Amino acid sequence: MPADTARNVNAEPSDSVRAIERIFALQKKAYGENPFPSYDQRVAALDKIVALIDANQDRLATAINADFGERSRYETVIAEIIITRASARHAKRHLRKWMQPRGVATPLHLMPAKSRVEPQPLGVAGIISPWNYPVQLALSPAIAALAAGNRVMIKPSELTPHTSEELAAAVAETFDETEFAVVTGGVDAGEAFAETPFDHLLFTGSTAVGTRVAMAAAKNLTPVTLELGGKSPAIIDDSADIDKAAQSIAYGKMFNAGQTCVAPDYVLAPKAKTEAVAQAIADSARALYPQIDTTTDYTSIISDRHFARLKALIDDARDRGVKIIDVGSANALHPQRKLPLTLLIDPPRDADVMKEEIFGPVLPLLSVESADDAIAQVNAGERPLALYWYGSDQDARDRVLQKTVSGGVTVNDVLWHVAQENLPFGGVGKSGVGAYHGEAGFETFSHMKPVFYQSRFAGGAMLRPPYSKNTDKALSLIRKIL
Ligand code: NAD
Repeated sequence: MPADTARNVNAEPSDSVRAIERIFALQKKAYGENPFPSYDQRVAALDKIVALIDANQDRLATAINADFGERSRYETVIAEIIITRASARHAKRHLRKWMQPRGVATPLHLMPAKSRVEPQPLGVAGIISPWNYPVQLALSPAIAALAAGNRVMIKPSELTPHTSEELAAAVAETFDETEFAVVTGGVDAGEAFAETPFDHLLFTGSTAVGTRVAMAAAKNLTPVTLELGGKSPAIIDDSADIDKAAQSIAYGKMFNAGQTCVAPDYVLAPKAKTEAVAQAIADSARALYPQIDTTTDYTSIISDRHFARLKALIDDARDRGVKIIDVGSANALHPQRKLPLTLLIDPPRDADVMKEEIFGPVLPLLSVESADDAIAQVNAGERPLALYWYGSDQDARDRVLQKTVSGGVTVNDVLWHVAQENLPFGGVGKSGVGAYHGEAGFETFSHMKPVFYQSRFAGGAMLRPPYSKNTDKALSLIRKIL
């Protein structure tokens, strides 16, 4: 067994584990020497990220393609290059304001003091990233951490080895490792990484591994942001335009072949319309990918194991007699693991497909009796990462928004709330802890330090002993003010 694949306390640490320890020590030292990088230094780091993306986009796209078998070039440009570049540019544009102390009101009885919340770099930030968007989900948190003035280490996924290696090389060519470095490796590297006493650790991945990461980080009281997954519903209200909703859902479910944390996991549709919705989604899918079995616009499933898992979900539904609509001709022997969209009409709630996050192009449609039934169905499961609502009835929309708790929401479309840097992005409950993107990301990687600036005219001395009648007078005055 390679040293990288299993952790054995008696074994010599692997190269990855040694690299984690070495670079962490270097970054910690560098942080000590410059604990508050200037605005110019941070802008320089963000500029370097943009330059890294621009100089390496072809190399990274080729690596992603090799890792997936086939990844749509357009999806790579949209989801890995443009979004990540935009996030760095957004941070640069707003950095001066984000770095400003936030003035807060000082109550009358503490006047004339002043109070501010002053953002401060935390130190060394760790990032563990998944395989599904291997550039965006590694670099976007790094952008937030660098903007906040931290040193950064990334441990990318072992399931995208080409991308992880190219990313590590590109970062090493662009940054000094005391500022920003990528350490590759398997699960043992991930475990060692999670046990490293970072000043903040952001993990993106599954809820199961995220739980283990949180437990490892807790040993050091390392604060964590957990960007996890879950079953994100798409609710079609009675007032929805079915064709428009179907086009949006088909797009959101088939982008990256459904291997998107915020992809619609399942659809809730009014009972009388479920068949029509399914047909409209199938039609939309065929329009989006007319040659779904052969087109390079449609992305492969990442590995044989994931492909087999998705086929097993479909087989379980078929064995239960569930009505299935195939959008393409699914071919398990396809060398590039292409799996066209498969729609499952009203699978029973105990079908495998309803028990786990699907994370692929399999879409169950569940009939609901009413808008309240849809809310009850969502609330019967764990709190999802995303929720999509389609319709024009604003009261129905607000009822769903108020009575369900999800990480984020897009109304009348899919995915787009993720691309809006001014909105915090994160989960809730089992779909995550904390948030990043834009200013929320800057604050996640900062210590938002409260500072109270006392005035030389402060009256606080009146409350010090030895207590006297004057103390009583001062207290009764304060009581009147408060
Ligand atoms: P995963 O949890 O299997 O792996 C994520 C990362 O954790 C990888 O780098 C892996 O090497 C590392 N890892 C594995 N075991 C570890 C351990 N014991 N200690 C520390 N690190 C360990 O997830 P995945 O399969 O790469 O990604 C798919 C999951 O990620 C889905 O559940 C999806 O919803 C979720 N996801 C969430 C978001 C989000 O932003 N919320 C984005 C993308 C994916």
